Amino acid sequence: MDRSTEDRFTSLMQKIDYLNNISQTLSWDMRVMMPKDAAEYRGREMGFLAGQIHELETSSEMDFLLGELEALPPENEILQAMVKKARYTYDRLSKVPEGLYAAYADHNLKTEHVWACAREQNDFQMVLPYLKKEFAYKKELISCAGFADDPVTGLMDEWEKGTTRQQIDRLFDELKDQLVPFVAKLRMEPSPDLSVLKGRFPKEKQKAFCHEVLQAVGYDFDKGRVDEGAHPYTTFNFRKDIRFTCRYFEDDFTRAVLSSLHEGGHAIHWQNMGPELDGTTLAVSTSLPIDESQARFQENILGRSLAFWEHFLPVAATYFPELEGLSPECFYRALNALHVSPIRLTSDELTYNLHIIMRYELEKALFDGTLSFEELPAAWNEKIKDYLGVCPKNDAEGVLQDMHWFSGYICYFHSYVLGNCYDGHFLHAMKKDIPDLFGQVRKGDFSQILDWNVKHIHRFAATKTPDQVLMDSTGEKLSADRYIKYLKDKYTEIYRMQGEM
Ligand SMILES: [Zn+2]
Repeated sequence: MDRSTEDRFTSLMQKIDYLNNISQTLSWDMRVMMPKDAAEYRGREMGFLAGQIHELETSSEMDFLLGELEALPPENEILQAMVKKARYTYDRLSKVPEGLYAAYADHNLKTEHVWACAREQNDFQMVLPYLKKEFAYKKELISCAGFADDPVTGLMDEWEKGTTRQQIDRLFDELKDQLVPFVAKLRMEPSPDLSVLKGRFPKEKQKAFCHEVLQAVGYDFDKGRVDEGAHPYTTFNFRKDIRFTCRYFEDDFTRAVLSSLHEGGHAIHWQNMGPELDGTTLAVSTSLPIDESQARFQENILGRSLAFWEHFLPVAATYFPELEGLSPECFYRALNALHVSPIRLTSDELTYNLHIIMRYELEKALFDGTLSFEELPAAWNEKIKDYLGVCPKNDAEGVLQDMHWFSGYICYFHSYVLGNCYDGHFLHAMKKDIPDLFGQVRKGDFSQILDWNVKHIHRFAATKTPDQVLMDSTGEKLSADRYIKYLKDKYTEIYRMQGEM
């Protein structure tokens, strides 16, 4: 292999990596710091950067270098992974006719705006034509990548390469079959006492407490920062600069803690990617579901565990005196009480999965044409009623509640539940390697958990496929079984039910 070909390729990839990171920082600034009046010009700057990245990713130089490097694959594994990733992007982008992306991006902005008004006014009809077009654009774009017959698989493939509709159908059918009757049974049981969660929790104290929690689980404040923001999110820059935002509610401090653990979970994942991957475009999560698994592990498996609160409730009481003397067990039961609601974001760990599954089923039906867009609000309400036994008061609480479909995140929701299924496997394997796992959490010691995650998941970033990460760390193939068992064990214990369910 001609050295200069490799050098030309790595320097091209480094340029793309720099531009991506710059764009991430600008976008963080836009959401957290930027003066309001700068929005329009910043939009143009971001558009310019996106155009530059697109140009490099689809350039004739890229085409040439990929051809050369594929004909005589480099021995270096990192370089091989870079070539594969760049090829995927090149093929996806270069087949889209000129102008289509720009037209779609323009439509997307409009749809997002109309959705916000439609939700405020509880008027689905207002956004209906935009939503139809949004799906049509997605179908057209994914057809260019060769998925004309199966847009659902094509769109999911963008979040985790290799995901198929058949695979998700199988996982979700199993989850649904097990969880729908389980939730119905739990609802017959008396609810845990929720009053233990109530109080006034000053924002500044919440910030200090969350800081302490984040430090304990391994978030490195020298390589990131946490700011206040209306919509919690993590910005994925270079591994030494992974920031996130959090929102604080003064009547419930647990929301900020769980949200910090979620975003912190993403951030810890990114902070611990291998240093050898700097500037390669591979220092990113291998897939969105794996990324989500890391966030959900911190939020749900650790942050909603009894052991976690056995350690942190007394610590929280030093910030919030009203918590003094509370039993961690009562607190844990209240924190995990079922909250069967038409709203996804306020639901509990268990029913959350059903909110996602129904969205996935509706997406499929819309693409298949078995459901019309006009029928969507009614179909939405019917599914929520079937799975959870509740009905939204109106469309604002129903089909209009999430921004995702209206800002182009279609066939995206499933990633959250896929992340949960990964966690079922990771937890099982971690418990084998660290038998005293929750004993350590009870002591506030998260070091072995962090080491396990770094060793098996974080450091590889995008150099391994999700299948490889799972197989190498657990020896297993993806299934919903372990996650279902985790949920059933946990909720059976919380609701103190007897025997098998
Ligand atoms: Zn997340």
